[in-house]
Amino acid sequence: MVIDTGPDFRAQMLKAGVRKLEHVLYTHTHADHCHGFDDLRAFYFRDHRSVTCYAATRHAMELRQKFAYVFHDTGYIGTKPQVTLSEFDQKPFSVLGLEIEPAYAVHGNVQSAVFRLGRFAYATDFKLFSPALIARWRGKIDTMVASGIRYGEHPTHSCIQETTALMAALQVKTGYITHISHEIMHARDEVDLPVGVHLGYDGLSFGVELGP
Ligand SMILES: [Zn+2]
Repeated sequence: MVIDTGPDFRAQMLKAGVRKLEHVLYTHTHADHCHGFDDLRAFYFRDHRSVTCYAATRHAMELRQKFAYVFHDTGYIGTKPQVTLSEFDQKPFSVLGLEIEPAYAVHGNVQSAVFRLGRFAYATDFKLFSPALIARWRGKIDTMVASGIRYGEHPTHSCIQETTALMAALQVKTGYITHISHEIMHARDEVDLPVGVHLGYDGLSFGVELGP
């Protein structure tokens, strides 16, 4: 399972040696989160199983429009990704036996889907979490990956200060900041983060508790 298929999805999958992929969760439909969609094609060749793509109902129409050729039956499967689109809204849904709780957070003029899987949460491309969502998830997350674009406010993305404050409000034990802009230097800026919060990087791996 992966979350989002950005434009460098193919390179990421090759680098990580991913040979089998069954499920994709989509956070939203901005280009940098879904324009690797066509490269899901390769995952059909080995197992002849389509990839299930989970998109919020509010995003699914745009995904169908952006990649209309995928969803038209041309009678020939070799030229396009073999995917099944599964829509979610507010209710938790199950993937690979894991319950995934979706929620939404403001990101400019759209709302990004954010996910909680057991005691792990993934949230990218949001400006802020609502007080209700913070109250709902507080104390339930040990490890969180969340975007923090730079030091200093951004109109549609949370900055690093806002993201670390969010992690503190949620009582996250270990946080990884992702979706980092070129303005951030890992060696220089990692030292300024609160205890337990780190800058993410390509190839980072860690264990998470996925149970309830
Ligand atoms: Zn975005």
